[in-house]
Amino acid sequence: MKNRLNTTIAAAIMKTELLSAEALLEHAGIRVTAVRILILKAIRRDFQNAFSLADLEASLPSVDRSTLFRTLTTLTEAHLLHEIDDGTGAQKYCLCHHDGTQHCPGHVHLTCIRCHRTYCLTSVEIPSVPLPEGFQAEHAEYVVKGLCAECLTAAQNE
Ligand SMILES: [Zn+2]
Ligand SMILES: [Zn+2]
Ligand SMILES: [Zn+2]
Repeated sequence: MKNRLNTTIAAAIMKTELLSAEALLEHAGIRVTAVRILILKAIRRDFQNAFSLADLEASLPSVDRSTLFRTLTTLTEAHLLHEIDDGTGAQKYCLCHHDGTQHCPGHVHLTCIRCHRTYCLTSVEIPSVPLPEGFQAEHAEYVVKGLCAECLTAAQNE
């Protein structure tokens, strides 16, 4: 009984949304520091979708830009964040909804051509693309250009 309960708890904490920022960093195998906790908490609080370094700076004005950038790189290397090149010229990041120990399959993004926000379509997995003989995939990004729900509604009401 006790064992089964522990298994249930273990399964529950594998869901990153339920882990504290501290536990997430620890689980990813990187040093838990006050600034990393602060930054990870701010990201989870403020960004449901993709964000840039400038967005993070605006949400955490007390932390200097180079610390923010270094931490974003560390969190990305630890697989807690994904990097996205959405074609806007600014490097974007988003939260990995995984346990932080390995790459997840990733998710499709939609960059809105009207409001220029990049949305995480977390329920849409990146489709696998058949590659020709002799090629091997390492990483895939899938960015759809289109209209977000908000802009689509606005466009229809014009
Ligand atoms: Zn991921
Ligand atoms: Zn939009
Ligand atoms: Zn995303």
